[in-house]
Amino acid sequence: MFIGHYALAFGAKRMAPAVSLGTLFLACQFADLLWPTLLMLGVEVVEIDPGNTLLTPLNFVSYPYSHSLVMLLVWSALFAITYRLIRGSRPAAIATLAVLVFSHYVLDVITHRPDMPITIGGTERLGLGLWNHPAGTLALESALFIAGATVYAASTRPRDRVGNIGLWSMIAALGAIYFAALYGPPPPNTAAVAGAGQLLWLFVLWGYWVDRHRVVR
Ligand SMILES: [Zn+2]
Repeated sequence: MFIGHYALAFGAKRMAPAVSLGTLFLACQFADLLWPTLLMLGVEVVEIDPGNTLLTPLNFVSYPYSHSLVMLLVWSALFAITYRLIRGSRPAAIATLAVLVFSHYVLDVITHRPDMPITIGGTERLGLGLWNHPAGTLALESALFIAGATVYAASTRPRDRVGNIGLWSMIAALGAIYFAALYGPPPPNTAAVAGAGQLLWLFVLWGYWVDRHRVVR
């Protein structure tokens, strides 16, 4: 799952208008932002295995700290607590961010084959394997993404040209990366996977930048 995560962040702006899109991106993709660093440190392991599912050449060998059910609950609580400490008591915003962090697990379980750990050390893993049904994956993620982006665009309006062009170019970039990952060649090695994963931080910055140039309607 890729653009589906961003879809929920975009849509969450309606629930928590005071929260910047950058923070919403940080929440929905917290697991995938943590993952490349854990790969680089050797704490988590991925292998390149074309055909692992029809839509991803990656075999997620071990990623319990970034992608287990238990740790997503922990990250969700820590994210909410940190936001509360920095921004003060804003119940709707805090609840929205907590749900967004955990939503990553639910959406990944839908697309991954059964490789999503439940606990850190356990062997039980969940996954409904939508990635083996390319048309279904494309339909679900694209529909979510269009719906989410529409909600964000309708809940806010541009303050200036950056707020307009910045938003639509970001939406186009996310869509382009999604299709390139689906239809492009498999990555050459796992270092490239981790390196490309770190680029997702750019979308967090992009989210803050765009959001500062838009106002809530
Ligand atoms: Zn993920």
